[in-house]
Amino acid sequence: MDKSLQVWKALLNNTSKEDLSSLVNLLAKIEFVELYTSNICQLHCKHCIMGDIDPKQQPLSLDEWLRVIDQFLNLGVKNFHLAGKEPFLEKNTFEILSYLSKIKSNKDIRYGLITNGLALNSNNINLLEKYDVDYLDFSLDGMKTGHEYLRGKNTFNKTIKAIKLSLNVLGWRKTFVSSAVYKDNINEVLEMIKTSNEFGARQFFIQPMVPYGRAIQLHDKIIDWEEFKALIISCKIALENQFEKGIGIIVYLPYSFAKKAVEESFDPVIETIDRLSNNGSPVISIGKSKMKLRLGLIPSAYWQSVVVTHDGYYTGACEMRSVQNYDEISVGNVRNATVEGLYSESIKSISNLYEILASYEEWAKIHLESV
Ligand code: SF4
Repeated sequence: MDKSLQVWKALLNNTSKEDLSSLVNLLAKIEFVELYTSNICQLHCKHCIMGDIDPKQQPLSLDEWLRVIDQFLNLGVKNFHLAGKEPFLEKNTFEILSYLSKIKSNKDIRYGLITNGLALNSNNINLLEKYDVDYLDFSLDGMKTGHEYLRGKNTFNKTIKAIKLSLNVLGWRKTFVSSAVYKDNINEVLEMIKTSNEFGARQFFIQPMVPYGRAIQLHDKIIDWEEFKALIISCKIALENQFEKGIGIIVYLPYSFAKKAVEESFDPVIETIDRLSNNGSPVISIGKSKMKLRLGLIPSAYWQSVVVTHDGYYTGACEMRSVQNYDEISVGNVRNATVEGLYSESIKSISNLYEILASYEEWAKIHLESV
């Protein structure tokens, strides 16, 4: 059974703190590492999760990054995600991808990047092909109006151009389009999916905009569960008959939404939980298309996912990078400790995770429902 679901079910059964900690310890394995290789970006998006947070140290050097990657590989990590701020503006990004491609020749690993697409050109896209990236994920928040409200004027067409370039060179299987959904773009999301599909995009990821970083200022634009649910239903209907070649949509439900969906037995969520409970795939087939729901029932920080910031801090999730004192809440810095040591430290402080889990209602309230 899916690990998060096991922990969630244990929580529902009022498992004691000790038993829950043992369970999390038993299941703990880093599945996903986000490397924040860059601290620069040409945009100033209104909802940027990293907002205006000051760096605490010099950026990691290339040698330091490669050492960190080796240490994660020794822990059995297979998934590396190069993220924020804008990875194409940092020259180390390509050196890191080159390094990962060499590892890939004899190890089963997967890696990709998320980008705003503005710096993508025929030279660097060819490098991505050469370094055999598994995916390139573009941030496109709706159509022109919804996208540019968040990301600034004249950004929409540039990102579309970059997506087309990626589709041409890397192909649709490696090209993803991701959207943060908020009040002003929720009615544009389906149109954006259809428009992108017309020029070849077939893989999409949607999630509600979250109130972290600069997006705290946008609290009146955050959507509620009813609005997001209506979008999921519209997408489902569209998948049934509107995409001849079939597309895939991954939908992320943060805790408060996932909880409500379970409480009201929202079909796709219940089906997903049933499938995961029976060790099945969470992918739901709809006509020729597919929908996959990612349920944020349990935070994955530290025991399943890790973030290394551009200046070396080891944290559990991107939300932690969105606060001014991210250095203080991190477990430590990869400059002063090994990844293995930091991992054990984070697992040792599992009581902290327990506190998060045990007071989950409160945690979710503070982080997801307070605005
Ligand atoms: S959201 Fe992404 S593209 Fe926008 S400012 Fe932040 S890092 Fe840059």
